[in-house]
Amino acid sequence: MENCIFCKIINGEIPSDKVYEDEHVYAFRDIEPQAPVHILIVPKDHVASVADISAENSHLAAKCLEAVGKIARIENLSGGYRVITNTGRDAGQTVFHLHFHLLGGAELPAMIVRGAG
Ligand code: AMP
Ligand code: ZN
Repeated sequence: MENCIFCKIINGEIPSDKVYEDEHVYAFRDIEPQAPVHILIVPKDHVASVADISAENSHLAAKCLEAVGKIARIENLSGGYRVITNTGRDAGQTVFHLHFHLLGGAELPAMIVRGAG
C-alpha cells in the first residue's frame, strides 16, 4: 500500500533490522525499543489493524502469531515475553499496518507500549 511505512520496510524501500521472514510474515527490530528485545511482527500483505481482520485475511494474523514462538526461540526469550497490538487512536496506534509488538529480554513493567499514557 502506498505511503505505508511498514509496506516500504517489507519491500526494502526503507531499511530495517530484520530478525525473521517467511512467505507471509516479516519481523524487524523496533526503532525505539521499549525492552531489551522489541520486535515488530507484521503480515507482508497490508492489513490496517486488528479492526480490519476478517474471514478473508485472518490467516495473515494467524501466520504472525505462528511466527511469535519461532522468533522468541531465535531471541532466547526463554523467560517469557509479551505480545501487544495497539488498535486505533485510544490505544496509541501510530502505524496503520497490523503489527504485533514482541517484548522481552527482562522482567517487563506492568504497562508498556503507550500503556502508561
Ligand atoms: P504502534 O504505536 O503500536 O503503532 O507502533 C508502531 C511502532 O513502530 C513504534 O513502536 C515505533 O517505534 C515503530 N517504528 C516506526 N517506524 C519504524 C521504523 N522505520 N523501523 C522500526 N520501527 C519503527
Ligand atoms: Zn502497509
